[in-house]
Amino acid sequence: MKHYDVIVVGAGPAGGHVAHLLGSQGFDVGLFEEHNEIGRPIQCAGLVSLRVFDILGNKKGVLNEIKGAKVHSPSDQILDIHSNSPKACVIDRAEFDNSIVINAVDSGCDLHLGSKVKEVKRKNGKIHIQESKKGKKEDFTANLIVGCDGLGSIVARSFGFPKPKEVLSGFGAECIVNTDFDIEYVDIFVGNKIAPGFFAWLIPTGEGGARLGLCTAHDKKNTRHYFENLLTHKAVRSRLKDVKIETYITGAIPIGPTKNIVSDGVMLVGDSACQVKPLSGGGIYLGLLSGGYAANVAAGALEYEDVSEKSLRKYPQLVQADVGKELKRAFQLRKIYLGLKDKHIEEGFKILADKKVLSLIGKRGDIDYPSGLTKAVLKKAPRLMKFAGPVLKSLI
Ligand SMILES: Cc1cc2nc3c(=O)[nH]c(=O)nc-3n(C[C@H](O)[C@H](O)[C@H](O)COP(=O)(O)OP(=O)(O)OC[C@H]3O[C@@H](n4cnc5c(N)ncnc54)[C@H](O)[C@@H]3O)c2cc1C
Repeated sequence: MKHYDVIVVGAGPAGGHVAHLLGSQGFDVGLFEEHNEIGRPIQCAGLVSLRVFDILGNKKGVLNEIKGAKVHSPSDQILDIHSNSPKACVIDRAEFDNSIVINAVDSGCDLHLGSKVKEVKRKNGKIHIQESKKGKKEDFTANLIVGCDGLGSIVARSFGFPKPKEVLSGFGAECIVNTDFDIEYVDIFVGNKIAPGFFAWLIPTGEGGARLGLCTAHDKKNTRHYFENLLTHKAVRSRLKDVKIETYITGAIPIGPTKNIVSDGVMLVGDSACQVKPLSGGGIYLGLLSGGYAANVAAGALEYEDVSEKSLRKYPQLVQADVGKELKRAFQLRKIYLGLKDKHIEEGFKILADKKVLSLIGKRGDIDYPSGLTKAVLKKAPRLMKFAGPVLKSLI
């Protein structure tokens, strides 16, 4: 039976990155991925901040750069937010994931493709897994397991980690577009009839392409119905006059920060650990950032031969110190958003449609740390307090 220092389950961005970081420090790493191909099926809109590439040290898989957003209210009031420099990139998710996993393989990791981890347990201080590949079962052991296996993670389930507080449902499509529209802008649509509990997006992937999609809160299951509605939206129709749907994109997103992500010989990273931004549903940046902390702590623990929960707890502490406050605030802001009716949203848009406020958002808006802007926006637009005065005040 093959024994690894570390088994990483899931070769998404989080798993590929953790495997690469540990492999390049000389650890014997086994990376297990149930699909035969990395990065597919695609379950993502592919919008990431530039920080993602700073973490990875390269800029692979970039299709387009984004400088601003047009945010649409339910009645189609538009907040036009723009910046002079790129704020985000649109990626080809399959190429992006592949480049991360190639790094892992180059640093010496064993990549097991088409290999579904079916069983995970702890026995005599070691981790035991059983994979199933083309119907054949094989067992492996390791000193440490890192669950980067997304929502529904077998690693999280096997060790009784808590379920996410909330799960969003997503539905979208990769489109071929024959109309000219400004490819430096994303369109965001909010409203309870458009995407209840979240928002919809139109993201240009470059000349001739766009991703249209939305997420809804978990109790609004019929996301396809909302997607069909979105296709008939006036602004969508004017941008995508002659649109052809190439492929559909579906998936679910766990929301709700949690600190409970380690136990003896076990770590969770990425979606399996709910490391997702509550306001945007983006998980790539947080998964990579947290993956860096996880790999550092794992390396120390393996070196000192102490993979106890106590020793691994440093990992969630580092994540918490870095992004804990932001995630807590963002989750609270999300709760306020969930309480808004469409008429409140319209009123909010009227307040925000002020040149100074929009220019502030354009300059200081940050898709990874959106809550940081709350205080400055409220200073310029104090009338927003009326929607959730005490909660908002507690955030600033
Ligand atoms: C509709 C939609 C739009 C999104 N848009 C964005 C966006 O624009 N920007 C952004 O940052 N994020 C976005 N996200 C979120 C983003 O896709 C995730 O946060 C990100 O993929 C998480 O990375 P991960 O590595 O943790 O998990 P994943 O990417 O989910 O990777 C987990 C991997 O584990 C594998 N796996 C699972 N179980 C097993 C098993 N038992 N054995 C072996 N392998 C297994 C899976 O096959 C998968 O490859 C979106 C999500 C959805 C659903």
